[in-house]
Amino acid sequence: MMKMKIEEPKKVENPNNIILFDQPHKIYISLKDNFLPIIKKGDYVYQEEKIAIRKKDHFPLFSTISGIVTHIDTNGITIKNDFKNRVRTYEIKEYDLKEYTKEEISKQLFELGIRNIGEKEKDPYQKLKPDQIYKTLIINALKQEPYIDLESFQLKMERKQLLEILEVFIETYNFMEVLIIIPNNQKLLLEEWKQCEKDSKIKLIEMEEYYALGHTKKLIEELKKIYYKKEPMEKGIIVFNVSTLCAIYQALKYKRPQTKMLVQFTGDMWKKNSYIEVRIGAYLKEVLNKLEFKRSKEVLLLQGGLLQGVPKTPENTIISVDTKTFSAWKNITEKETHTCIRCGKCIEVCPMNLSPVLIMDAILKQKNLKRFSIEQCINCKLCSFVCPSMIPIDHYIKTAKEEQK
Ligand code: SF4
Ligand code: SF4
Repeated sequence: MMKMKIEEPKKVENPNNIILFDQPHKIYISLKDNFLPIIKKGDYVYQEEKIAIRKKDHFPLFSTISGIVTHIDTNGITIKNDFKNRVRTYEIKEYDLKEYTKEEISKQLFELGIRNIGEKEKDPYQKLKPDQIYKTLIINALKQEPYIDLESFQLKMERKQLLEILEVFIETYNFMEVLIIIPNNQKLLLEEWKQCEKDSKIKLIEMEEYYALGHTKKLIEELKKIYYKKEPMEKGIIVFNVSTLCAIYQALKYKRPQTKMLVQFTGDMWKKNSYIEVRIGAYLKEVLNKLEFKRSKEVLLLQGGLLQGVPKTPENTIISVDTKTFSAWKNITEKETHTCIRCGKCIEVCPMNLSPVLIMDAILKQKNLKRFSIEQCINCKLCSFVCPSMIPIDHYIKTAKEEQK
């Protein structure tokens, strides 16, 4: 396998501060995945008030602002902000994390509706099961894609809080080791965290980044030479990204639902990265106004990074826990697809050692795919990215994989 270095053709500065955007005019809370509203149009809702529950298990969704419910349908709830940030209780109390039992941790994370941030994985209450035996906890701060470094940014900003929760997890769940994966070019971050290794089960692992090492399956394969089918939990391993760990900390420390999240805006459109604390449910358009983003035909706006991102329009896009990065790029145009020239580049770069072109051939000829191990595909899209014929190979594989489920 040829390792694709994470390269950033243009230097984008990294500021040391977080911009606040916590007063959107309205929010939209999606009801996808079978959530049912428990409020109605015209109701007044408080910030942090429960507004919907999941049909099968009553997992809750909360309002992230106070105001009037202006619209509800089966897809979602719209709430107009009254800009008063009214909550039912004003008591701000800190809880001692050491007092929690395993049962209380998963109960609290469930009741506060804490979700996994930015990745389609199980939610924290599902990963941290009281009856499970765990060996390793991995905190992944590697770049998911070029320019996307929100994880190491948060690792730097939230060190004290993260250490507190990690020490509690080690005691409560009896982890044998906690591995914090840091890119080896982040010297300052490594030095800061090195002091925390003493007398602890916490170990820092410096890794040279290449694409798609940040992906959980690839990372575990590289780090531990362990292969799993569906979940790392099969092998006693839990992986959290830094954003999700920060959300868990806040929920357990203050017993309050998450109303804000940190989002990174990057890409060659801007001179510097922006890390913005945004109310969950805010419209992307409002946040982009704050960044003085100028829309034009030449600019491609993506939810995610250049490799895995999905094109979005600011008017219809909502900031949700599904994503933590947006990027904007100049002069990127869609190119025409040509026939395969059998160059083999897609095979050379596949991080999971698959043969994308052969899989695609088999799919097009409707052959049996059993021998190709397509369940190992992590959908990194690298095969399509390097293809000189611009063939969307990953798309064929993803569709075939979904059909096999
Ligand atoms: S999308 Fe799948 S097949 Fe393509 S390079 Fe990534 S892992 Fe390999
Ligand atoms: S990279 Fe594209 S052109 Fe080259 S073998 Fe793979 S599918 Fe064919």
